[in-house]
Amino acid sequence: MAQSQPPTKIAALTALLLLAAACAPAPEGGDGSNSSTVAATTPSRVAVPDGPAGLAVVPQGGADISSVIDGPVSYRSHENLLLPIVSDSGDWLQVVTTCGSEEWVRRSDVEVVARSTAASPGAGFDLSSAVIVVDPGHGGRDKGAKGPSGSNEKDFNLSISILLRNRLAGSQDIDWKTGHVRPGDEYPAVASVWMTRGPEGPDDGDFELGLAYRAEVANGAGADALVAIHNNSSPTATRSTPGSEVFYAVSSPGSDRLASLIHEELIRGLSPFASSWEGEKISGPKARVDPGTGDDFYGLLRRSDSSSVIVEGLYISKAKEERLLGTSLVQMAYADAVYRGLIRYLTSDESGTPVIEPIPFSGTVGSPSTSSCVVPTQP
Ligand SMILES: [Zn+2]
Repeated sequence: MAQSQPPTKIAALTALLLLAAACAPAPEGGDGSNSSTVAATTPSRVAVPDGPAGLAVVPQGGADISSVIDGPVSYRSHENLLLPIVSDSGDWLQVVTTCGSEEWVRRSDVEVVARSTAASPGAGFDLSSAVIVVDPGHGGRDKGAKGPSGSNEKDFNLSISILLRNRLAGSQDIDWKTGHVRPGDEYPAVASVWMTRGPEGPDDGDFELGLAYRAEVANGAGADALVAIHNNSSPTATRSTPGSEVFYAVSSPGSDRLASLIHEELIRGLSPFASSWEGEKISGPKARVDPGTGDDFYGLLRRSDSSSVIVEGLYISKAKEERLLGTSLVQMAYADAVYRGLIRYLTSDESGTPVIEPIPFSGTVGSPSTSSCVVPTQP
């Protein structure tokens, strides 16, 4: 990994979005919440890819977006956004916007990060080569589920995702007996951890994203894992253990194992906070599939080529769990549980809680239509 260098325009921007973790100091204190301690460094992975793959990072000041190659400027994209690259032509890159449409940007106007081609996770995998995408569910006018006292799922999702990113971007010790995570040298930082929406972006990360965009960030990055962070609503049963659900992609190898390990760690990590929980009668690592095609029901999981899961930690729609979600202790426990699940997935062949067989599903869930989604422009 490159040594710390004086911040440049690009380096400063990239450090915000790409936590080139080997360079990032461990978070101060035990809660990992101090994201401002991330150093501005030049990431080692920056390279122009041979083919149409990778991420285009919009630098400070933004970048002009056109609907056709060499066409007039449609708008100036907001700085610090990630634009997954789907094809290229000469100096032009075709990218997916945050709303899911495909547009063009000049290669010279963005920072290009080549897609990772790291080895497969499992025993012997080099954790410091891992590329992880953390996707805080919802955002902007898509608020997600609502708590009885008025809190919005999108805000909790973002807070927990930032804590998770900080864990992954630092080097940690894990006490596997207690589950306690703290800065140390046992588990090195991953190579890069990308957030689909983060505090460095527009409106401190509170902006709308299309599902196609979220999946394409993982595809462009060549992520070893895509983890979407959500919280649930509409429970149907009361339980003695947390009703956490982790949905896995039937279409992407490794997703079921990743879901199993994260589920196991979530139950362990959240259990101490209450003795009765909301949920469904049968809880566990699950998959929902289209009854007709057998494909993944969730668009995010269907579109992602990476091992992918959607985590539904707590039931925000119930007052008690909404209150728990509002505490830093529970947010940290949620983030640390996902972190431990990821570490086990990446560095071992363990299988975790047995998965529930894919369930045919045709309900109406998820985010509202992004047909009127607006791409953030540079002020
Ligand atoms: Zn959600």
